Amino acid sequence: MRFSQLLIPTLKENPSEAEVVSHQLLLRAGFIRKLSSGIYSYLPLGLATIRKVERIVREEMNRAGAQELLLPMVQPGDLWKESGRWEKYGPELLRFTDRHARESCLGPTHEEVITDLIRFNVHSYRELPLNLYQIQTKFRDEIRPRFGLMRGREFIMKDGYSFDATENGADATYKKMHEAYQRIFTRCGLAFRAVEADTGTIGGSFSHEFMVLADTGEDTIVICKACEYAANMEKARCQPPEPTAAPPLLALARVETPGKKKVAAVTEFLGISPRNLVKTLVYMAEDKPVAVLLRSDHEVQTVKLANALGVNTDNLRLADDKEIFDATGVPSGYLGPIGLTIPILADSELTRLHNFAIGAGEKNFHLLNANLNRDFTPQTITDLRQITSEDLCPLCGGALSLTRGIEVGHIFKLGTKYSEALKATFLDNQGAEQPFIMGCYGIGVSRTVAAAIEQNHDKDGMIFPLPIAPFQVILLNLSPKDEAITTAANELYDHLSKNGIEVLLDDRDERPGSKFKDADLLGIPYRVMVGKSFAEKGLVEIRDRATGSTLSLPLLEAGPRLVTLIRSALVLPP
Ligand code: ATP
Ligand code: MG
Repeated sequence: MRFSQLLIPTLKENPSEAEVVSHQLLLRAGFIRKLSSGIYSYLPLGLATIRKVERIVREEMNRAGAQELLLPMVQPGDLWKESGRWEKYGPELLRFTDRHARESCLGPTHEEVITDLIRFNVHSYRELPLNLYQIQTKFRDEIRPRFGLMRGREFIMKDGYSFDATENGADATYKKMHEAYQRIFTRCGLAFRAVEADTGTIGGSFSHEFMVLADTGEDTIVICKACEYAANMEKARCQPPEPTAAPPLLALARVETPGKKKVAAVTEFLGISPRNLVKTLVYMAEDKPVAVLLRSDHEVQTVKLANALGVNTDNLRLADDKEIFDATGVPSGYLGPIGLTIPILADSELTRLHNFAIGAGEKNFHLLNANLNRDFTPQTITDLRQITSEDLCPLCGGALSLTRGIEVGHIFKLGTKYSEALKATFLDNQGAEQPFIMGCYGIGVSRTVAAAIEQNHDKDGMIFPLPIAPFQVILLNLSPKDEAITTAANELYDHLSKNGIEVLLDDRDERPGSKFKDADLLGIPYRVMVGKSFAEKGLVEIRDRATGSTLSLPLLEAGPRLVTLIRSALVLPP
């Protein structure tokens, strides 16, 4: 392809609307353009890299025995009513009525549609297992679309769904998908981790997210430095608190703490460690108040709390001062568990504490030497808090580290949630009717491109991993008016193209400096320069975008060298 003929509208300045680097660079390099909030056009280079990701996804899904199909994007509201999600999904589901006043929606995901297809077309265990996928544009009316391709309203997803006859079969399919995802993101050239993910309130199921490691990621993930353990912060566990031998339990003591409401102020005033102060928070769960106790130096993990309460995180929030007072009769800052009439949940860590401080339940007072089950009894004691880097791995006891990630894939064992709701059944080998056991498997294709850029860039532009770069080589003709140089550049272009290398030939009548800048911005892995050194010494220069290392070679050697470099870098994982 010739640069001069392609639509590559690069920009000199960072567009002011773009907050994160992938969004800035995708706009600046002319990969995407915004049509409206969260909705983008993919220009030729943007589409080229998306197609690369799609191709890897397809090859690995097919290798794992999945079949590609394509489901409708417009879905009937009735189907969503059958699954119960018409009410539950909320405003992210874009709904409309057609000319016959039939309620419809744009597909944000396809569990309903695929389950509907299978219930009418698959009847026997003999036809199972089945694993079906599609690559398609999804629409989610995200409340805050942002960061370009990272969180769009319209975006490209690979979504897959599996149907098995037995639990063991479903687990084996899940494992196969886990392996396929490992291969997909490895082949994309990304640094990533599969992490244990929260499954919400669907019981008995399990789930992993695939996270591209990048400081700008929206998710915090917990990784063991010593073993394979990795989990999303929402789900991360640690070594359970060791039971400690109780010291002599001291008598409760009421102390005046005038005006001391904040943890730092209270502990300083009392001369105790924050580990020895237990804070009492009030949350509103489905508009009903509950108290949550935890060490004052720990933070609540909302998803864990929502799961412990059996509510959706959307229906869980911290109470405001008025709600706290209405529920407890105590001003915030002096709240304690003793005498509370609302349900109390305590974090497991409290089982390790003795003679700790709590709010006294009256203004300007705290209590010293409180003890669990002697002075108050929570209804629930469970893990409710955020893991910290001081915690130890739940599997091996090793040190944990917290890092940021971007969710590019999510696999989920669904069980029979949708097959039961939609009455999708098959006859098992005993002739009995059973609901299909399902799994679902998503990859954010367009988000993967953004994540790749978040992970791989420098001040000059993107640095694409070779397997998903829009082109493998950018060949700069540095003197388009010079016949010898132009002939050499064209010859090299032909040689590479004939050998299956994807080359972008920069044949524009521009200064070398501006070609170098654009080449860096576009992030194409190999830059080849045919210019002055060729005219003087017959040499062309190959520059590696990632490392900056350069190599000067005679023209005739440059082609074969590039072919070898690229082919050897694209060898598939075993
Ligand atoms: P998130 O937590 O980021 O909102 P999700 O958990 O709702 O995502 P899934 O339903 O698991 O997303 O969708 C599968 C994949 O689709 C995600 O792993 C992600 O890569 C991608 N994805 C989801 N929402 C968006 C979006 N708004 N823009 C781009 N990609 C998205
Ligand atoms: Mg997800």
